[in-house]
Amino acid sequence: MRFTEFNFHPNLLEGIEASNYENATPVQEQVIPSILAGKDIIASAQTGTGKTAAFLLPVMNQILKNHIDGQVGALIVVPTRELAIQIAQHIEGLSYFTHLSSIAIYGGNDAQNFVAEKKALQMGADIIVCTPGRMIAHLNMGYVNMKGLQFLILDEADRMLDMGFQDDINKIIKGLPVKRQNLLFSATMPGKIRELARKILHEPVEINIAISKPPEKIVQKAFVVYEPQKLPLIKKILKETPYKNALIFCSRKQTVKQLARELKHGGVNVAEIHSDLEQSERESVLGAFTAGRIPVMVATDILSRGIDIDTIDVVINYDVPGDGEDYVHRIGRTARAEADGSAFTLIGEKEHNRFAAIEQLLGKEVEKVEVPKELGKAPVYNPRIRSGSGNRSPQRQFHRGAPKRR
Ligand code: AMP
Repeated sequence: MRFTEFNFHPNLLEGIEASNYENATPVQEQVIPSILAGKDIIASAQTGTGKTAAFLLPVMNQILKNHIDGQVGALIVVPTRELAIQIAQHIEGLSYFTHLSSIAIYGGNDAQNFVAEKKALQMGADIIVCTPGRMIAHLNMGYVNMKGLQFLILDEADRMLDMGFQDDINKIIKGLPVKRQNLLFSATMPGKIRELARKILHEPVEINIAISKPPEKIVQKAFVVYEPQKLPLIKKILKETPYKNALIFCSRKQTVKQLARELKHGGVNVAEIHSDLEQSERESVLGAFTAGRIPVMVATDILSRGIDIDTIDVVINYDVPGDGEDYVHRIGRTARAEADGSAFTLIGEKEHNRFAAIEQLLGKEVEKVEVPKELGKAPVYNPRIRSGSGNRSPQRQFHRGAPKRR
């Protein structure tokens, strides 16, 4: 499903486009319409599924529609400062072309930040992301104004309860208006989360995104590269790895076309498959690939689900897919039946966080292989997700006034 189908505010759509999101992930497809319809939600979805944008986008859209000046529109409560920073950065990216204001409120930063936080809580900011402890510190000072709150979001609720934040959450909720929309996200659904949901949510829609894991026998490797190194590296992998059929995935059809062209120039017997081809053309390309007449195929994610070709022994991700589910589906095209398979992912400069989110979902780190020396110096893998060290202060996000346009 494409984002244009949700009828989002045009300025929000611009932010989505600038974030390079094309299609909604499964969790987004399920969650967004229910939030737009005003429903409470309880969703089990892990990091890597696109869950953050699943709640941010509809919440931002509704606040853009029903903006109340000087009030807090949405309060997002999360267990850790790292997650607060990540979500704040997500908000910054997606709201870039809107006038929405936001701030992250978390412990351990300096007094100047406390003053900015206090101002946001008194004067209103459209979206506030907070950790429970720091929010309680502000609540205890008596100036927090949540009268206009439209949305309460609890993210990683299971982790918050594990960390002992139940009482803090109760206290925070006490100060909120009764009439509001509640969204609860949790990776797991133990009994205590169901109990919390019963107390907080009103006739919630329940959404369950079960993530499959890839078969263990697929050997997964990744290369951390600069964008221009991707093409020579793919040529090298194809030259040096034995395969019957190799399938290369790209997120965009323009990239598929360009890569297929470049590989052809380099003497590779390659076909391409994407949505611009008629059904009959797709079938004939697939037929040639399956029969081994064309050993290499470059494809968009249309091929990541459902094709079952036993002879695919190598999958290469030219780019990191948008969410964990797509990754699992892409690499699951290899090692079908009794065969073994290898999956190589090329992680470009802007894809470190996305890949780290996928690794979180897989529950393991994928081996990073050194880029061959002749391709030049390669970057170091440095995802913010794992290190938790946001290199931009979300405090800078507190802005009001005229819409930003850059
Ligand atoms: P999350 O599960 O919210 O932690 O998101 C995981 C990663 O997927 C983040 O880097 C997001 O920016 C990215 N992402 C979320 N939605 C999409 C989408 N529809 N298309 C591509 N990437 C996405």
